[in-house]
Amino acid sequence: FKCIMKVKKTKLIALTFDDGPSIYTPIVLDALEKNDAKATFFVLGSRITDKTEKYIKRAEELGFEIGNHTYSHLRMSTSSLDKIQSEIVKTDKKIQSVIGKPTSIMRPPYGDFTVEAQKNIDKALVLWNVDTLDWKYLNTSHVVNHVLTNAKDGDIVLMHDIYKSTANAVETIIKGLQKKGYKLVTVSEL
Ligand code: ZN
Repeated sequence: FKCIMKVKKTKLIALTFDDGPSIYTPIVLDALEKNDAKATFFVLGSRITDKTEKYIKRAEELGFEIGNHTYSHLRMSTSSLDKIQSEIVKTDKKIQSVIGKPTSIMRPPYGDFTVEAQKNIDKALVLWNVDTLDWKYLNTSHVVNHVLTNAKDGDIVLMHDIYKSTANAVETIIKGLQKKGYKLVTVSEL
C-alpha cells in the first residue's frame, strides 16, 4: 500500500514598507529582527541621505529586500519614459552606493504605471493586495486590525515606514500573523 504523507505548505505573507527610509525605519527594523521576520522596503531616492542610508544598509544586512520606488515619488502615467528611467537609475545608483548592488524590483508610486513604462523598465513591478491606508488614519490600532483581519496566504501588505503610528504597529502585526501560522518573507521569497 501507499503511504501518503500530507505536507502542509507554509503560509506566507510579505510585509512591504514604502516611501522611506525615515527616522521611524529603525523601529520597523527592530521589530522584524526581534521576531525573526523579513520584509521589503521600497525606498525613495530623495529620502536616502547621510542620516538615513544606514537604515537601508542594516535592512540589507538583515536579509530584507530593498526595492526602487523612484526618486521623487513620480506619477509614472503622466511622466515621460525618459524622466521615469532617469529617476529609477538615479535611485538605483544611490541604493547601490549603500548596499553594493542595484534593485531588481520596483513599486510604482500610487500603483500607477503604463504598459509602455512596464515594458521599458528592467525590473519586476510589485503592487499589493492589502492596503492598510495607514497614511489616512495615522492610527496604530487601525493598521494592526486591518492587517490581522485581511491578510491571508500569498498576500502583499502595503504600509509606510514614514509614520510613527505605522512603525509602532509592526511588532503587534508580526506576532499576530505568526500566531496564525504565517511566515513573513520578502517579496522575492513570496
Ligand atoms: Zn509611495
